[in-house]
Amino acid sequence: MNAGSQMIVNVPTPQTLNDVALRLYFSAWSSLIYVRVHFDEAFPPGEDSRPEKGGWAEEWSEYIEGCQPELQAVCSVIQQSNELALKARICAVSPYLLLLNSTPKLSTVPGDIDFSELRTIDASDLPASVNSLCKETLSDEYIRSYNEIRSLRNKIAHLGHAGSKFEPETLLELLVDQYIELWSERAWLTDRVNFASRTGLAFFQDGKYTSAAAEVMCELPLIFTAIKKSAFKKLFGIEKTTRRYLCHACVTDASVRYHEVDPVRSRTAYLKDKFTLHCLMCGVDYSVVREACRSDGCTGNVISRSGYAECDVCHTCGSEQTEAS
Ligand SMILES: [Zn+2]
Ligand SMILES: [Zn+2]
Repeated sequence: MNAGSQMIVNVPTPQTLNDVALRLYFSAWSSLIYVRVHFDEAFPPGEDSRPEKGGWAEEWSEYIEGCQPELQAVCSVIQQSNELALKARICAVSPYLLLLNSTPKLSTVPGDIDFSELRTIDASDLPASVNSLCKETLSDEYIRSYNEIRSLRNKIAHLGHAGSKFEPETLLELLVDQYIELWSERAWLTDRVNFASRTGLAFFQDGKYTSAAAEVMCELPLIFTAIKKSAFKKLFGIEKTTRRYLCHACVTDASVRYHEVDPVRSRTAYLKDKFTLHCLMCGVDYSVVREACRSDGCTGNVISRSGYAECDVCHTCGSEQTEAS
């Protein structure tokens, strides 16, 4: 009799599964934002920035018609992201629970078993499995939308179309809800930047011409528009109307050759209390002093305590507080 040294290889970890789920999540997000970015480049938004309501309503509708194949692909990516996130939860209890309902072929010939070749739980059984096996359960609302996306994805896979027209806004809203349900303990904007630096595009992000922070800073106005009032509160912990300020560290990261930081559109921080600014993007707390900005025309009164420049910098307009100005 041989003492077997064979083992089960490629056993997944909850971290890697969750990580891939988040990568897919932000890849879907970014595709949806780019649908809009490309349109705005050719048809600049007017008074009403919503393309379906503004002067380009007809062009927008025609464009979205043409975007359907891309939006179908996004739908599949969202489904995959959901699936992996739920598998990560089950895997955290035990990776072997992912094999429930499957009967692996076992052989009398000794040898390693490759986990990645075994059949794991069906997508349709995942919500019930999570709710039976994991401490943290899924809401009815989430399960309903999970099933909806799954059935749309199946139609696309089997029939080549979903039978209904996809709207980018609806898919964006879906993504916002997904994050709130699955990753509420994480910081959305911080994740957005981290995962932007882990895409193919990141190859070009040298920090000189382009950077992950610059990419996200560019889409910031679209991000804040896409996230509705009640979701905003859940995602960022502040009201959508809360006054926001510049984070000098993030502005520095986003200041690259191909991106000029606009002080009005790049505000990522808010006052946690009178003397502390918290940045949603880098997650850091900064202490500030409350003094009137010395720059002409700026009514700001939140000033940094050095650290980023030779002198203090205004968190509203971004100008340095030199005695002369
Ligand atoms: Zn920051
Ligand atoms: Zn100022």
